[in-house]
Amino acid sequence: MTGPGTNTYFVGGQKVVIIDPGPADDAHQENIIAALQTLQAAAQAVVITHSHPDHSGGAPALAHRLDVPLLSFGHPLHHNDTLPLDLPPSSFRPHPSLTILHTPGHTPDHLCLWWAEPRLLFAGDLVAGQGTVLIIPPEGDMTAYLDSLRAMLALSPQAILPGHGPVIADAPALLQQYLDHRLQREQQVLDLLAQGYTTATAIAAHIYADRPEALEIATLQVEAHLQKLRKEGRFVS
Ligand SMILES: [Zn+2]
Repeated sequence: MTGPGTNTYFVGGQKVVIIDPGPADDAHQENIIAALQTLQAAAQAVVITHSHPDHSGGAPALAHRLDVPLLSFGHPLHHNDTLPLDLPPSSFRPHPSLTILHTPGHTPDHLCLWWAEPRLLFAGDLVAGQGTVLIIPPEGDMTAYLDSLRAMLALSPQAILPGHGPVIADAPALLQQYLDHRLQREQQVLDLLAQGYTTATAIAAHIYADRPEALEIATLQVEAHLQKLRKEGRFVS
């Protein structure tokens, strides 16, 4: 489900924050070490955007090898915490830093990192440069996910650096597109409920009639919509 693989980002100067060191895969980890050497940079910390193994699997070993802290939401990061960046201060940015933004939905522990001065958002699996983002209950929460998308849209990022796929240049447009898509799907689910469909499986089988191979994942996505509608009192079952 990782498309072309997981993106690992370095942010900083001679010292870098490493975002999402990727899976427990020797080749990926050796690439990180080689890239640090090429850049003649040292690591300052390893941060994971969420606990899925394609983002975090290699993190403990890498943090240990580089002898730097491993940071994630709740351990010890919280919403609006900042990580200082090793960049020269200026009148525009006296304290260059990344701000931690708790963005649950894909997982409860999901965070994005906001670099305010260039308006760049490191978005983990909030959105994807390629492929789709899965919201799979119980860890996936559609209500929280839509709230997180809206919160990131309100920042009006100049670009998004996703966990998978290429950099997203027209960030607000993509965030709006994600919101629109989910709300259209929700309306479709509501319409089918009104027509007498009662289960996630039946609804998904109707929506994905032409893609039987996607049915299992689609059923879980529909279940995420049903949970949101239940929470809002718009579906009772
Ligand atoms: Zn993920």
